[in-house]
Amino acid sequence: MQEIQVYNTLTKRKEVFQPIEDGKVSIYVCGVTPYNHPHIGNARPFVTWDVIHRFLEYCGYEVRHIQNFTDVDDKIIQAARLAERSWDEIAEENIAAYFTAMDALHVRRTDNYPRVSEHIGEIIAMIEGLLAKGHAYTLHGDVYYDISTFAAYGELSGRTVEDMLAGARVEVDGEKRNPGDFALWKAAKPEEPAWESPWGQGRPGWHIECSAMSTKYLGDTFDFHGGGSDLIFPHHENEIAQSEGCTGRHFVNYWVHNGFITINQEKMSKSLDNFFLVKDILAHYSADALRFFLISTHYRSPLDFSDERLEEAERTLERIDGAIRKARFRLDGAAAVRNEAAQAMQAAAEAAKAEFIAAMSDDFNTAMALGVLFTLVRRLNTYLAEEAVADRTALETVLRVLRDMTEILGILPQSWTEGNAADAHAYRELMDVILAVRQEARTQKQYAVADAIRDRLQAIGITLEDGPEGTVWTKSEV
Ligand SMILES: [Zn+2]
Repeated sequence: MQEIQVYNTLTKRKEVFQPIEDGKVSIYVCGVTPYNHPHIGNARPFVTWDVIHRFLEYCGYEVRHIQNFTDVDDKIIQAARLAERSWDEIAEENIAAYFTAMDALHVRRTDNYPRVSEHIGEIIAMIEGLLAKGHAYTLHGDVYYDISTFAAYGELSGRTVEDMLAGARVEVDGEKRNPGDFALWKAAKPEEPAWESPWGQGRPGWHIECSAMSTKYLGDTFDFHGGGSDLIFPHHENEIAQSEGCTGRHFVNYWVHNGFITINQEKMSKSLDNFFLVKDILAHYSADALRFFLISTHYRSPLDFSDERLEEAERTLERIDGAIRKARFRLDGAAAVRNEAAQAMQAAAEAAKAEFIAAMSDDFNTAMALGVLFTLVRRLNTYLAEEAVADRTALETVLRVLRDMTEILGILPQSWTEGNAADAHAYRELMDVILAVRQEARTQKQYAVADAIRDRLQAIGITLEDGPEGTVWTKSEV
């Protein structure tokens, strides 16, 4: 199988990917808190993981991919209060908005989307396990994780206990054993969603859900855990402490984190009023352009959103789309023309495929992979421009390679499935030429020539009608 190198946040270096089970890959990605429509910062990890998933499948892996919805959360409760609606209605509505946005971006569905509200039993069982092993303690109806009981705490984020103490805010509740201890269970407050538990009515803390749901669906140890780099601390650090504290086994083999998005060089935040919703961006740009923009930079690097970059993405995609459609159109008239140009074209396509896979195998480097795709498109355009008749084998090879590339990246599905627009466009242009020649014949009173053109067209199903506004043509179906 293809060797894949992955940058692991835990070890801070690239490692050769070794699946736990031969030919199989398990992935857990932290999903959204559905209190609002998804914004562009939300979209980046999901597009990134969709590409990784597609590539692993292309390499022959059977992929199991889980992504949660944090449907019990302060932000949802707050949004519900403001809207004077129930928290579950708000969550349901924004989960639907999430799927609408991701479907538009060609993000394929994962195997399961577990929700916190549907896994309270598993969450309680895990907290009980942590209490039994001395990793947690109760405090006035809350349950906290005691970070001093987990020796590896801080390893993922590279933080020391001193850093964490220095960074800890002054705690209102001074009764915690360590300032960094975090809530596993929170006692119920009035008018908040609450569930029955051994510690009274309450709801889970944020971090415990991902430990409980990932291990439920993927087992105690799984291959990949993903999410935005803002989740490394405390969320993922806490997930490791919870899961390994409870199961006593290694939790995740490869931690993969994507970089953040800046808007015109400023870090995205609501307070800066640059909080771009996917649906608002899609009102101005095509979904393909947004997806293309999101994968045009390596997933670990920061990505700067600007109108110029989106416009550039639209233009680049048009060039790729145009080349694919033109090549499909030219396949009709292709023949066995095994000249030097054809052999060079075919060799270039095969080399591009190998380079593309090498780029994707190097920590899923989509930026480099897109560079390979552009180079192939440029060569294809030159080949088609210079050769009157294209070589069928060469053209089929290029199309097959381009199809694999666009499918792995999840861009331009319509270039392959839609009726051939280039074909229709060329057809209209040819008809314009024929009608202009016939009009010239009529102007020169060569009526026999004009009539012959009309009759020949009629014979192939194209009817001409001469009127005061000129000649109109219609083509009968079949
Ligand atoms: Zn999570």
